[in-house]
Amino acid sequence: MVAQLGGEPILVLPAETVRLVGRDARRSNIIAVRVIAETVRSTLGPRGMDKMLVSDGDIVITNDGATILKSIDVTHPAAKMIIEIAKTQEREAGDGTTSVVVIAGELLKRAEELLDQDVHAGIIAKGFIMAKEKALEILKNKAKKATKEDYLKVAITALNSKAPGITAKDHIASLALEAVLSVADKNFVSKGRIKIQKVSGGATCDSEVVRGIVIEKEVAHPLMPKIVRDAKVAVLGFELKVKKTEISAKLSITSPEKLREFMEAEEREIKDVVERLAEAGAKVVFCQKDIDDMALHFLAKKNIMAVKSVSEKDIKAIAKATNAVILKSARDINEKDLGFANIVEERKIGAKRYIFIKNDKTKAVTILVRGGSEHILAETERSLDDAISVIKDVYEDGYIVAGGGAIEMELSKELRKFAKTISGREQLAVEAFADALEVIPRTLAENAGLDPIEIALKLRSEHEKGNESYGIDIFSKEVKDMFEAGILEPIRVKEKALKFATEAAIMILRIDDVIAAKGAFESKKEEKEEKTQEFGGF
Ligand code: ADP
Ligand code: MG
Repeated sequence: MVAQLGGEPILVLPAETVRLVGRDARRSNIIAVRVIAETVRSTLGPRGMDKMLVSDGDIVITNDGATILKSIDVTHPAAKMIIEIAKTQEREAGDGTTSVVVIAGELLKRAEELLDQDVHAGIIAKGFIMAKEKALEILKNKAKKATKEDYLKVAITALNSKAPGITAKDHIASLALEAVLSVADKNFVSKGRIKIQKVSGGATCDSEVVRGIVIEKEVAHPLMPKIVRDAKVAVLGFELKVKKTEISAKLSITSPEKLREFMEAEEREIKDVVERLAEAGAKVVFCQKDIDDMALHFLAKKNIMAVKSVSEKDIKAIAKATNAVILKSARDINEKDLGFANIVEERKIGAKRYIFIKNDKTKAVTILVRGGSEHILAETERSLDDAISVIKDVYEDGYIVAGGGAIEMELSKELRKFAKTISGREQLAVEAFADALEVIPRTLAENAGLDPIEIALKLRSEHEKGNESYGIDIFSKEVKDMFEAGILEPIRVKEKALKFATEAAIMILRIDDVIAAKGAFESKKEEKEEKTQEFGGF
């Protein structure tokens, strides 16, 4: 970029910097966001279409907006921002990722129309914030206290919009509920206490919740017990190995006796450690690192079950579930830092071996997910994760709203009323915000092959009549009361979506200058581009 000063050109920004100013900057950003919104739009709701994601030879088929957004490689900075918003939604509510992006896209579409009518971006932003604040207030008024039966319905609503490959939705929902209730404290659910373990083979309906931890591992030595009851458990963060002294460096071994002596000393050391574990009362040892043959031999002799090379994540989970302290070195071995399990057992399921660590008293569970193929397992895992998230949301907040576009329709109606009370051009922005929310029911209808305009009109008239929880049931294709139909969502999912979509839209509206270093708009992964081109033929 070059500026003029007294006839001399001055280089302000490096050559090849891309700079977009004012209207151009805004347009470029808005278009980028709308492209992303259009991409995921067709996946919204129960009749959303699937997307096939191909990268580096991996194929994922999904209609999960979050998964799609995570997998696509976008280069436009504004598009990246919108993907971040989806991730934030996922983190904070665990559902509603497609909705948040679709709403942000629609807000920007409406904003663009206002910009064309020469409404200043600052005014639009101000109006959007007013509308959002009001919407959050209305949302609270329209929410209903959740009953125990609602938990399952909320989970099923979240599962409805998953791939049709996911069968046994009721079963998945009840597993999620059981898991959440097992680990729940008074008003907090730690998702970290719920482990999902995929097990290939079997059908989804064979999936089950196990109280405790299940890991894909096996007992490390054939002579060790395969099942131990009422077991004291040692969790080791250090390796159980003979310390290899650098023979050549330190010692000169002159005779076979010397060598034997030396090896015996090494042996004694490891034997000692095992001895101390046994004395402390350990019946089972989980080791994050390796256990060598010598140590395994001694452990087996003591009738101790051992599992080696357990991942850090699993070690932590085991420690939590058995109430053990992860021991950092052999010196730390002592009775009070051992954990406890009712049963530790090796079981073979399908072709693989698993270790079950069961404990009735701890707040930790594993959901064993069964399924015929990797694709099904992965999609079931994602579905389960959504179901767990929405139950957690409702458990913690206690409130639900009507799904199927009902709450968006009601917010839209109330916001239009609110707009009338506002003087100044902000009114136009509040109205635009109100209109934008209708994108949810319209898209749900459209994806189900229904006429979006007709459905929107029907919904509007019901809401005008005071039927505030009327939405569109995609299965019966009828406009009806969503509370009665059991199409329910956590209030948190809607709160966060409104908040993040508005924030994203405003952030983008406020940018009127994009200064991009060379290459910022280009794809980093050129290989990928080549691959995509190969598919260009069809
Ligand atoms: P998101 O990623 O935003 O959660 P989904 O694809 O999961 O997107 O779709 C969620 C939407 O689907 C919500 O608006 C929810 O109310 C709606 N929905 C779920 N089940 C039904 C149903 N049976 N009829 C109509 N809408 C439904
Ligand atoms: Mg969802």
